[in-house]
Order: sequence, then structure tokens, then C-alpha cells
Amino acid sequence: MKPTENGITMTPAILVTGGAGYVGSHTVTTLLERQSGQEFEIVVVDNLSNAYRSEGQKKPESLRIIEEITNKTIHFYELDIRDADALSKVFETHNVECVIHFAALKAVGESVEKPLEYYQANIGGTCTLMETMRKYGVFKLIYSSSCTVYGEPERLPLDEGHPTGRGLTSPYGKSKYFCEEIMKDLSISDKKWKIISLRYFNPVGAHRSGRIGEDPAGIPNNLMPFIAQVAVGRLSELKVFGNDYPTPDGTGVRDYIHVEDLAEGHVKAMKLFQQPGFSGFHAINLGTGTGYSVLEMVAAFKAASGKDIPYRIIGRRAGDIATNYSDVALSHKLLGWRAVKTLEDMCADTWRWQSKNPNGFKTS
Ligand code: UDP
Repeated sequence: MKPTENGITMTPAILVTGGAGYVGSHTVTTLLERQSGQEFEIVVVDNLSNAYRSEGQKKPESLRIIEEITNKTIHFYELDIRDADALSKVFETHNVECVIHFAALKAVGESVEKPLEYYQANIGGTCTLMETMRKYGVFKLIYSSSCTVYGEPERLPLDEGHPTGRGLTSPYGKSKYFCEEIMKDLSISDKKWKIISLRYFNPVGAHRSGRIGEDPAGIPNNLMPFIAQVAVGRLSELKVFGNDYPTPDGTGVRDYIHVEDLAEGHVKAMKLFQQPGFSGFHAINLGTGTGYSVLEMVAAFKAASGKDIPYRIIGRRAGDIATNYSDVALSHKLLGWRAVKTLEDMCADTWRWQSKNPNGFKTS
């Protein structure tokens, strides 16, 4: 049963799992910025495994700051999506209309060391979430997927018709692929499902206010937060993983996308649910279509921050590919969406966040 108050249906809610994390928090911000009144509630569930909460606060810092930026309220529940009972209570309390599912573990290297933890959290969590959605008659799902599902590119740019699941090197990547396969099976079994899997390329940047951004626990695994921490003096030098790739300068090329563009892609994807006849499973890339090398990223960040970024070339990182970038035709056609922010915006916004918050949310 959908919750009602005195027989009147309550405000529809968008449930955001993992909404306190990096991409989740920026998507929540964009959703709130896009609504003029109280068209829908935002309900975030997060187990805070990768989000910081200040002592004595109920909400994690990211959500607390979003409420300040947007002057709107977020409903927050600290829970793990594998806890079916706790999750059910959220569906009984709010009139959940659709779900945006970010909650997952995402450190590629760690996933090789802890495959069971990754499969349990990412696949187990997704299955429990979808079971609970079905129990409460909620069939609209946006899934946070990754271009990792394509494995080693057979052709570039990577279009959504490129094979997935081949030669995947990490349990993290496999978990994203397996979840997509489960979603395909589910949507075949029951035509009520409307599932959009958004395959992100490399999200970087921060909210233009510089008040929220990426705050990785420990030493960053990803390039951009690593560079930002070198620039701010938290780390001494960047280690560039290989300069012998078949790319113009020998370093790896990736399609970096501003997290605010990515967030906007989710808002546009939600609009697809309203299209008459829209159903089934759809995978859509979210990228810019342009690749930049590691050294180009270093140069751009240096220009944006005015800081020197010392680096040293070391050997390749296991499992890395030379180049990937997105074909953007489908996202443009289906969502009417294109990334609009430039590499300069990505670096300037990352730097605004990092320089204002050298220790991430802990100092906010
Ligand atoms: N990279 C690097 N040093 C680092 C982190 C990453 O040289 O400390 C390189 C990496 O080899 C790849 C690119 O930067 O070519 C992007 O890596 P990231 O981990 O950010 O994303 P992904 O590997 O998932 O594309």
C-alpha cells in the first residue's frame, strides 16, 4: 500500500540510495535546484560507509550543506539497503514514485581484495532494493552504472551497443555488469519495470559553490581527487600510471565529465519515465565524447589552481586501459542532454571545493 494521509495521497517522493556520496549528493542538489515548489520530496538512504557526519549531527555534512545551499529539506535515513525491513519502513513512510540508486562500493583495487564484500554490497544491495520496490509497487529505477561494463574497448567512441561484460578485470566492474544483467532479466519478466542504467564515464568537479565535492576516504584512487590533494599540499606528488600507452602523450585517456552535468543527466532521465509507452531496460552513456590524457589533466589543473603539480611517471596500473570516451548520440537523442561544462570548469570547481575544504567535509 502506498502511504496516504487522511485518504489524500502524499507528495510523491524520489528515493535516492547513496545520496550522501559524491555523485548522489550532486544529483540531490540538482533535483532540489530544479524544483520551484514542493513537487516532490527527496528521501535519501545511506549507510554512511563513505560519507562524513559531524559529531552530534543527524545528517551527513553533504546533505546538511545541500539543505543550506537550496534552502530545502531532505529526508534522511541511515540504513543499509540490504536491510529489507529498514528499507520497507521508508516505503511505508513516503510515497516513493521512483528510485535513483547510487549506493555501492566503488574502489576498483579494493574490490579485487574483497570480492565478496563488493558482490554482497553491490549485487545483494541492488536485489534487496528491487525486491522492496516491487513489494511496494514502485517500478521506476535509475541505476548508477559505469563505462567499466564495456571492458577493453573494441571500438571508439564507446556506444551503448558495444558488447559489455567481456574481459572485466575487477569485481567492482563485474558487479555493475551483473546488476545490469539482472535488471534486463527483471524487465523482461515484468513489463511494469522502467529501468534506466546510466553508464558514467569519469565524474569529476564539484558544485559551483565549492561547498560540496568529492571527499574520498584515505588516499584517493582516482586521478582528479589525487591531483587536487597534491595541489592543496596534502599529497606530495602524483604518480602517473604509465606513459607507454598508444595515446598522443603515452598516458591514459579518459572522458572526464563534470558532476553537475552528470547530475543534470539524471534529472533528464527521470523525464523519460513520463513518456507514453516507455518501459523496459535502457542503458545510456553519460560522457562528454572527448578524452583527455593524464598529462593534459595535470596541465589544466595547474592552470586553474595556479599551483604546481609535481608528478612522477611510474609503471602501468593493473587492469587499466589506454583510452576510452563516450559516444554521446543516444544520450542526446533520448534525454535531450549534452554535457556543457568544459575541462576548465571541471578543474576550477574541483579547486574551489578542495581549496576551501583542504580536508574535505571534516573542516566544513
Ligand atoms: N591515474 C594516474 N595516477 C593516479 C590515478 C589515476 O596516472 O594516481 C590515471 C589512470 O591510469 C587512468 C586515469 O588516470 O589513465 C584515470 O584514472 P581513474 O582511476 O581516475 O579512473 P578510471 O581508471 O576508472 O578511468
